[in-house]
Amino acid sequence: MTEFTIKNADTVLTMDDGRRELKRADIHLKNGVIAEIGQNLPDRGEIVLARGCVVTPGLVNTHHHLYQTLTRAVPGGQDALLFGWLQTLYPIWSRFGPEEMRVSAQIGLAELALSGCTLSSDHLYLYPNGARLDDTIEAAAEIGLRFHPTRGAMSIGESEGGLPPDGLVEREEIILNDCIRVIDRFHDASEGSMCRVGVAPCSPFSVSRELMRDSALLARDKGVMLHTHLAENDEDISYSLEKFGCRPGQYAEDLGWTGDDVWHAHCVKLDGSEIDLFARTRTGVAHCPCSNCRLGSGIAPVRAMRDAGVKVGLGVDGSASNDSGNLIVEARQSMLLQRVARGAAAMSAREALEIATRGGAEVLNRPDCGQIAVGKRADIAIWDISGIESAGSWDPAALLLAGPMKVRDLFVEARQVVRDGNLLTLPLDMLIATQQRLVSKLME
Ligand SMILES: [Zn+2]
Repeated sequence: MTEFTIKNADTVLTMDDGRRELKRADIHLKNGVIAEIGQNLPDRGEIVLARGCVVTPGLVNTHHHLYQTLTRAVPGGQDALLFGWLQTLYPIWSRFGPEEMRVSAQIGLAELALSGCTLSSDHLYLYPNGARLDDTIEAAAEIGLRFHPTRGAMSIGESEGGLPPDGLVEREEIILNDCIRVIDRFHDASEGSMCRVGVAPCSPFSVSRELMRDSALLARDKGVMLHTHLAENDEDISYSLEKFGCRPGQYAEDLGWTGDDVWHAHCVKLDGSEIDLFARTRTGVAHCPCSNCRLGSGIAPVRAMRDAGVKVGLGVDGSASNDSGNLIVEARQSMLLQRVARGAAAMSAREALEIATRGGAEVLNRPDCGQIAVGKRADIAIWDISGIESAGSWDPAALLLAGPMKVRDLFVEARQVVRDGNLLTLPLDMLIATQQRLVSKLME
């Protein structure tokens, strides 16, 4: 069934241009889009009663490493800083293959769906033992989320002064050729696209200057987006100053890594001039507050970025550095973290939810997503506010202050992915059993 009428929602937080909040509203979904919004709409298609619910656009996740879902809470990495944490996990990841990639992506995307996410990007930058980006694209199609996978890469191994072991890096020629292969095979630029591929060298400290530059040239030639990690913590800034003789913002600008078609993860340590550069060039930021807290990286200057006009979206980051992949929790954390740095008025619950929805869609250049308006894609999250988490709330639309951390229903492209808190597309118990088998094998 691809036609639904959502009836009688207590509140619809539209995130449209007027940021309207509708009371007792109905929404008609048909053929992938939001066909009509209003009151007392006729019953068309399947009826979804939304009394006692807040309805929002589906949340947008702008940064993830889905493959890491099989390495949560690994003891040696639990309390380490970024570089030490990576060195603990690289040897484990080097034993992954196609099945680990597919199953970890299924788990991570299922968790995202249950937390209200309808569109997720992913950053896969290692391809051991025959693993391919294709494995995660298959997983996203099975779960039913809109997907922006990026073909990541690492090319500088330990023997050349890089961080990753040599066995996990690839030759740059092979990387670029595979980027071309996956773009040609999977990238769909059309409106309503369910899959858009990006190009994403892992970080300035794991690939060469040439690969950064060539990736930008390739992405522009193909009309796809660019993504990487930038300015994540103090070590990252020191590395940039020492190796490249400049701050990360300058390095990015010099190599073609600014613009409306680029988004960078973290940006915790951007300074004022780098924030101006990002605003001027319309370069996007994937803010990952839980990962930044978890790894002790710091507090990203999101208030300053937003005030300057920088496009900011949210990311759960890889599960190994969160270790959760719940996007509504991430939205709450983004609100709380700005308040730690700048006081209680630094970010409202509504603004954090806007970053989580419309903000992320802007970062990923998806003006067709991230808001509830006629003609936009029918990506919708329904939150039950009749439960204990919202009991006593005077303003249930302030969902991030007192609301559920799991979605009741979720629609992507007018197809139902979650109903009554259960994933419809794949049996979760089977997925969890498969995951247990794979993780036990990795622990041996
Ligand atoms: Zn990351």
